[in-house]
Amino acid sequence: MKTTTRVCVIGGGVVGVSVLYHLTKLGWSDVMLVERSELTSGSTWHAAGGFHTLNGDTNMAALQGYTIRLYKELEEITGMSCGLHHVGGITLADNRDRFDMLLAERAKHRYMGLDTQIVGPEEIAKIAPITNLEGILGALYDPLDGHLDPSGTTHAYAKAARMGGATIETHVMVQETTQRPDGTWNVVTDKGTIHAEHVVNAGGLWAREVGAMAGVYLPLHPMEHQYIVTDEIAEIYERDSEHPHVMDPAGESYLRQEGRGLCIGFYEQPCRPWAVNGTPWTFGHELLPDDFDKIEDSIAFAYKRFPVLERAGVKSVIHGPFTFAPDGNPLVGPVPGLRNYWSACGVMAGFSQGGGVGLMLAQWMIEGECERDVSAMDVARFGDWISPGYTLPKVIENYQKRFSVSYPNEELPAARPNRTTMMYDIFDDMGAVWGAQFGLEVVNYFAEGDEARYETPSFRRSNAWEATAREVKAVREAVGINEVQNFGKYEVTGPNAREWLDRVMAGRVPKPGRLSLTPMLSHKGRLIGDFTISCLSDTHFQLTASYGAQAYHMRWFEQNATEGVTVRNVSDQLTGFQIAGPNARKVLEAVTRDATDLKFMDVRPMTVGMTPCLVQRVSYTAGLGYEIYCEPVAQRQLWHTLWTAGQEFGMRPFGMRAMMSLRLDKFFGSWLSEFSPDYTPGETGLDRFIAWSKNADFIGRVAAEAERANPPDRVLCAFEVAVNDADVNAYEPIWIDGAVQGFCTSGGYSHHAGKSIALALIPRSYAQDGQKAQIEILGEMCDATLITTPLYDADGAQMRG
Ligand SMILES: Cc1cc2nc3c(=O)[nH]c(=O)nc-3n(C[C@H](O)[C@H](O)[C@H](O)COP(=O)(O)OP(=O)(O)OC[C@H]3O[C@@H](n4cnc5c(N)ncnc54)[C@H](O)[C@@H]3O)c2cc1C
Repeated sequence: MKTTTRVCVIGGGVVGVSVLYHLTKLGWSDVMLVERSELTSGSTWHAAGGFHTLNGDTNMAALQGYTIRLYKELEEITGMSCGLHHVGGITLADNRDRFDMLLAERAKHRYMGLDTQIVGPEEIAKIAPITNLEGILGALYDPLDGHLDPSGTTHAYAKAARMGGATIETHVMVQETTQRPDGTWNVVTDKGTIHAEHVVNAGGLWAREVGAMAGVYLPLHPMEHQYIVTDEIAEIYERDSEHPHVMDPAGESYLRQEGRGLCIGFYEQPCRPWAVNGTPWTFGHELLPDDFDKIEDSIAFAYKRFPVLERAGVKSVIHGPFTFAPDGNPLVGPVPGLRNYWSACGVMAGFSQGGGVGLMLAQWMIEGECERDVSAMDVARFGDWISPGYTLPKVIENYQKRFSVSYPNEELPAARPNRTTMMYDIFDDMGAVWGAQFGLEVVNYFAEGDEARYETPSFRRSNAWEATAREVKAVREAVGINEVQNFGKYEVTGPNAREWLDRVMAGRVPKPGRLSLTPMLSHKGRLIGDFTISCLSDTHFQLTASYGAQAYHMRWFEQNATEGVTVRNVSDQLTGFQIAGPNARKVLEAVTRDATDLKFMDVRPMTVGMTPCLVQRVSYTAGLGYEIYCEPVAQRQLWHTLWTAGQEFGMRPFGMRAMMSLRLDKFFGSWLSEFSPDYTPGETGLDRFIAWSKNADFIGRVAAEAERANPPDRVLCAFEVAVNDADVNAYEPIWIDGAVQGFCTSGGYSHHAGKSIALALIPRSYAQDGQKAQIEILGEMCDATLITTPLYDADGAQMRG
């Protein structure tokens, strides 16, 4: 066995071999894979082999499209068969919400170049004649859907990898992974030790155990899953062509032809987690015992939807485990806190996603970054607060909701409340309707009187409308208050702090007592952060950014660490409030001695009431506003001070729904909507914050300079949209001159201006005030007009005044 290698992939399931193949495809041949048994010895061998592109996250959907197209390439390279059946598939909708979801997906697919179609009952009857159409409104047809042979495909990946120079060792069991001082790894196996520069954990069902060997907890959990293969069915084998896939979300089932019969699998509500205390090493090529009780209701439903099933005998039952992360997406990328240790696990749909996972991981390792935003599957999307106690209920929830409608405003209830601030009971008593961000309870809005304490999940306007309008009005006409807990905050200290910031951030690093806004760029000039820098002294800075990106940002800071600088994540050690609105200054003046001369973008330590705070004059709500930071132990005292003083000035608490409406008035972008690694500073307008003249070779400079010399084709613009009851959410296509020319990044309703607003990326040539367009929202073409004048405080007089 080879004992030194550049990369050692642990695990020979479909994901491990895909990673191995993509490493060779991108040019690394000194790579190996070790498998404790034969290839496919985990979940892979008992998969139903189905694949599809549908995924709520656009980048995940694109990667699923890549995976599906890859199989032909594998067959060509290796001469092996993946057993491909490109039969197409439909996803049924039996109610308005499900149909809305399919309409929204179809709209996204337009600019992604995916050729899906909305079909009505008559067409469904032709495509999938065994379907009982009672109550069916329509379906989404995807010609790319299909299935394959899981074992053949895994072996095709393996052969393609070997052809690229990779080595595969079966019957080699990894027992330990230990890091050497130089950051390389000893992979200790039952056949000897392998010295590897990089380790990839593709341990599938055993990924938790393999992770523990390196001292990390990877948040995933196996669930039992069952599908049934029927005996022959005349209506199936007498057809001229193979029956397509049918996804029936109402019945939580997927169905396809298998031989001369059918195969149907269920995501049943009475589902069961498997191996809660760890996956036994003795588990191998065996199945779990059949369990019809668990799927009794699902089968009864399926008999109604597909009456032929009731007459068909059962040929075989496949019941096996596979893993899920808390949100159902894979866990991919460099594991935070470890050098040269990579995750490629938690892949619950290996045959839809495995190719994309392998490609992204290989790009990340070899080229330093991925070609697209992979936040949805980045292992760093969970922080160090994640625990098995949280993961398990979330995974169960995810399994149960696998076929449910995912609403843009939906807040999932499992494992909550998890992390709360000192304000939880106070806000709860005031009517808070809660959401969750990165494990933290955050107020979405405050219900009053007999308003429901629950926001109805919807693609259209929800019951949060009135409350949001009230809160926006208070911020625009008086003063609003909310927490600043859900900002990511970092303390940067040390003699080289300024120099380090000048290298890591593209923008200007401010003077003591001042703030600046700056993008953070990857080496290829993509946006990987959108920060406020507060300079407390030349050796002491505070950074604020998105709360959900903490682990992602800390990983980047650690990768770019240097002597003489310490970066601490203080997101949960600093909390406080923001107060915003025309009366905000009066409130601050009432509780401090020296607020009057605090200018826009100033930062200053101040005593607020009796609480030592850091106050900075900046606001994401547009207009006048202050962020006031304190220690968590002082937060309640600070609240009483500000709330008491605020009464005289019309103070109201506000939540995230109001904040997202307020920011639209100034067309402010938000992280992972307008600003993400999918975009560049030139496209999004963040180039105006780049300090071109600074004497620093900041990361991404070469790419940013190149973009400046040759401006990108698309730019971020705002549109006013004529809508009915549904505003833009994200990724709706923009039609100009009869063709799709761009897509929305986010949108919503400006309660202040009484207008529906969309932010969108469109070709530069169309980016002129008054440009007419149409935006496809839930299947309806809505007229839109490009606007360039902000809806509030257009000249910045409030903000700076
Ligand atoms: C019943 C059922 C039906 C399914 N149907 C579909 C479907 O239709 N479509 C779809 O896309 N997905 C389906 N899946 C899910 C699919 O099986 C998984 O997404 C996929 O198999 C995950 O592959 P993996 O490589 O991540 O993990 P695994 O297949 O579990 O592979 C992990 C490998 O790592 C090896 N390993 C672990 N620890 C060590 C160690 N210490 N040393 C050496 N080797 C080690 C194991 O032996 C194993 O071979 C289904 C799953 C089930 C259970």
